[in-house]
Amino acid sequence: MSDETVYYFDNNATTRVAPEVLEALLPFYTQQWGNPSSAYKFGSHVGDAVAEAREQVAALLNCDVKEVVFTSCGTESNNAAFNNALLSQPGRRHIVTTAVEHSANIKFGQTLEKRGCEVTWLPVDSLGELDVHLLHESIREDTALVSVMYANNETGVVFPLEEIAAICRSKGVLFHTDAVQTPGKLPLDVCALGVDFLSLSAHKLHAPKGIGLLYCRKGAPWQPYVMGGGQEMGRRGGTENVAGMVAFGRASKLAMAGLENDVPRIRVLRDRMEEGIMSSISEVTRNGAREPRLPNTSNLSFAGCEAEAILLMLDRDGICASSGSACTTGSLAPSHVLTAMGHTPEQSIGSVRLSLSKYTTDTEVDYLLKKLPPIIRNLRKASPKAAESTTQEVSP
Ligand code: PLP
Repeated sequence: MSDETVYYFDNNATTRVAPEVLEALLPFYTQQWGNPSSAYKFGSHVGDAVAEAREQVAALLNCDVKEVVFTSCGTESNNAAFNNALLSQPGRRHIVTTAVEHSANIKFGQTLEKRGCEVTWLPVDSLGELDVHLLHESIREDTALVSVMYANNETGVVFPLEEIAAICRSKGVLFHTDAVQTPGKLPLDVCALGVDFLSLSAHKLHAPKGIGLLYCRKGAPWQPYVMGGGQEMGRRGGTENVAGMVAFGRASKLAMAGLENDVPRIRVLRDRMEEGIMSSISEVTRNGAREPRLPNTSNLSFAGCEAEAILLMLDRDGICASSGSACTTGSLAPSHVLTAMGHTPEQSIGSVRLSLSKYTTDTEVDYLLKKLPPIIRNLRKASPKAAESTTQEVSP
């Protein structure tokens, strides 16, 4: 391995910027750096690029351009959906969400509880799946919003959005979904899904960090929360991140094409990786339902090992993976997602998330399959429970 070689298995944390995306965005730093709101041509041409980007992301979502509000990231989009639901319906102070959401929702929900709102945290079963009947029962007269992620960032488990949307519609409650992990992996048609609000983040689909969006269904209530200029049709002030928007637009086109071209290959590669690991190392369990699951994600627990140690050893070999969501890396607390699935701290502590992208190669998977078994074997030998755990290596 050369010093620079990186074997990247952490695409749910962030993705590399696609060359086509980089090419599209660079002129907006070097030549076309005008303000899109300016009246002269040097600015208005930039405004045209923003309009085109909006059309491209609207095409990804099958929505109208007026339903797209660009934000700075997925976290902002999620926070905005919560804020908006509460501010626009002052009599409603209750939110229904799940115990396995990204920390963007968990932390904000906890903050809202401290401010006097009530939050129902829906549980999941041992496979990470939701009880939709329970969701139905949890909706009250004063429920302002139901927020359920489309796919879980740690396990890849996919939730039944259409079913949940139908329940919310029948009860007259707004429905938001955090779909940050899904572009280019699952179809994203907001009409078919039936959602009122949907969050995305560009850095998960091969565009840069610092740009996200919130889809807001036409007719759904809206309260501005970042106030200033009239950008985003008065819904979010602040001079536009033009290069980010252009990149997001280009990446959306690639993500749409990727559903057909890339997803089948990524799924086959992920399954080969998962089966290779499970057949060459003993006492490995998959966390979360096998299907429906994001085609790129695998979350595995290695009995008798700590994920932090596994990740450190993998890093020495140039392999990037993660023990859960990147935002909680560094903390030794067990994953809140696995805890909600009923895993004991011992089970959670040995879990590693491997997430692929269209850039992941067979060679990278082969390399991982070669490096991982001896790492687990050595860690188990060094652990106090060494006698109980063994690994048997087979050729990957
Ligand atoms: N929601 C999910 C499911 C995520 O995985 C992430 C990022 O990991 C976010 C929200 C936050 O997105 P951002 O990093 O753009 O704030």
